[in-house]
Amino acid sequence: MEQVSHLIGGERVDGASTLDISNPSTGQAIRRLACADTATVAQAVAAAKAAFPAWRDTPPARRAQVMFRFKQLLEEHAERLVQLISEEHGKTLEDALGELKRGIENVEYACGVPELLKGEYSHNVGPGIDAWSNFQPLGVVAGITPFNFPAMVPLWMYPMAIACGNTFILKPSEKDPTSSLAIAELLQEAGAPKGVINVVHGDREAVEALLDAPDVKAISFVGSTPIAESLYARGAASGKRVQALGGAKNHAVVLPDADIDNAATTLMGAAFGSCGERCMAISVAVCVGDDTADRLIETLQPKIAELKVGPGTDKGLDMGPLVTNEHRDKVLGYIEDGLRSGAELLADGRGLSVPGHEDGFFLGGCLFDKVTPQMRIYREEIFGPVLCVVRVDSLDAAIELINAHEYGNGTCLFTRDGEAARRFADKIEVGMVGINVPLPVPVAYHSFGGWKRSLFGDLHAYGPDAVRFYTRRKAVSQRWAAPFEKAHAEFNFPSGS
Ligand code: NAD
Repeated sequence: MEQVSHLIGGERVDGASTLDISNPSTGQAIRRLACADTATVAQAVAAAKAAFPAWRDTPPARRAQVMFRFKQLLEEHAERLVQLISEEHGKTLEDALGELKRGIENVEYACGVPELLKGEYSHNVGPGIDAWSNFQPLGVVAGITPFNFPAMVPLWMYPMAIACGNTFILKPSEKDPTSSLAIAELLQEAGAPKGVINVVHGDREAVEALLDAPDVKAISFVGSTPIAESLYARGAASGKRVQALGGAKNHAVVLPDADIDNAATTLMGAAFGSCGERCMAISVAVCVGDDTADRLIETLQPKIAELKVGPGTDKGLDMGPLVTNEHRDKVLGYIEDGLRSGAELLADGRGLSVPGHEDGFFLGGCLFDKVTPQMRIYREEIFGPVLCVVRVDSLDAAIELINAHEYGNGTCLFTRDGEAARRFADKIEVGMVGINVPLPVPVAYHSFGGWKRSLFGDLHAYGPDAVRFYTRRKAVSQRWAAPFEKAHAEFNFPSGS
């Protein structure tokens, strides 16, 4: 089997140990992944540190030229990359292409880095004194990414980090790392000097080595909440800048005046696209009034029955498999828990078999009604093709419900009522809000991030926040004395009078 290696200092490096990478549509191991131990991570940190001084001093306009070439190469290699994403993750080819395109938008934004790094200047802040702030790179920074977007989430991070003058170490998910590596290699082909982008693979040991390395100045993490929270605490305790994006439970509120056909159609994609393995997936439909719930369910049920499920690399499908067998077992456990706790399973995707792919990790669409806030299927992130319907009697009750949830990543309201939409957007304690837009993922020039236990840290991912995250501000005050002007000692803070 082909080995997926590390990329360190511009060279492919084998692993001390390996892990199997499986194709979730067949259940078969298809590649072997090199895994990094502490010594391998130290090698990557040393390579990134060595590359930093020259890259820091490369003018931003030249760094931007590398990003322009990178964008072009990503487009030229899109077909191969999309195939790799789909083969290891399981998502459909069309969805993989969508993910890649959203990732490329972040490269496009990074192409504007000379403009984004422009400092702030004030002339004559005191007699003969000018002052300015500029933004300087941090040094070696690292990114740790989840399985569900092996192309897009790394591209949220390193194009901007590197365009700002940092050098980078990526630790992609061990479940589907091949496209992440292939993309990083394209950045090198685009002209990033050796050591500017490095990739180390593995799991906990590699992450902990990055967290403990004094030369790593900042860490961007995207993954589940328990790991985000502990990584944030450990990284901050050792003086690093950390942003750690975590899990989610995204609610869509449906008001009685909503266009139910449109709401149901868009909810299908938002709940079941990518098999529900998206941090912005809608996993709860909050219906205001029993009549709204009944109409929505009646419209959803035949659509769920018609979902086309199969290997992601086949054309024209709605959903592929879940990423691993363990993950499918976890989702099945939630379905059983929901039944035990009294929720009504109106669409049951268990037992779905895809002919010719009996060993694949498939699960059909599931719909629960009469879900209550006490149930585990409501409280916890399932990360599978399971949509829960909760019934409430007013918009205010829906807002109160969502605000009481520990997660606050995304949410959406379906309505034709402008006042209700305005109130919802104002009062809801969630970081990304859609009005008749079920997946309100911000475009690349707005930043992405949730509230509450969906994000640990201050700054959101990509967009303008990324420029601030990957740089530190330096404020310079400068005086040039006029000829023969004598300086005098100032023992007191200037009072201005
Ligand atoms: P995960 O937390 O299991 O893994 C994320 C990364 O952490 C991987 O690189 C993994 O190798 C590493 N890791 C795993 N266990 C670790 C440990 N004990 N110590 C240190 N590192 C460890 O997440 P996942 O299953 O790959 O991804 C799914 C999760 O990511 C979901 O919870 C989803 O909501 C979340 N997610 C969030 C966002 C967001 O923007 N908020 C985006 C995508 C995914």
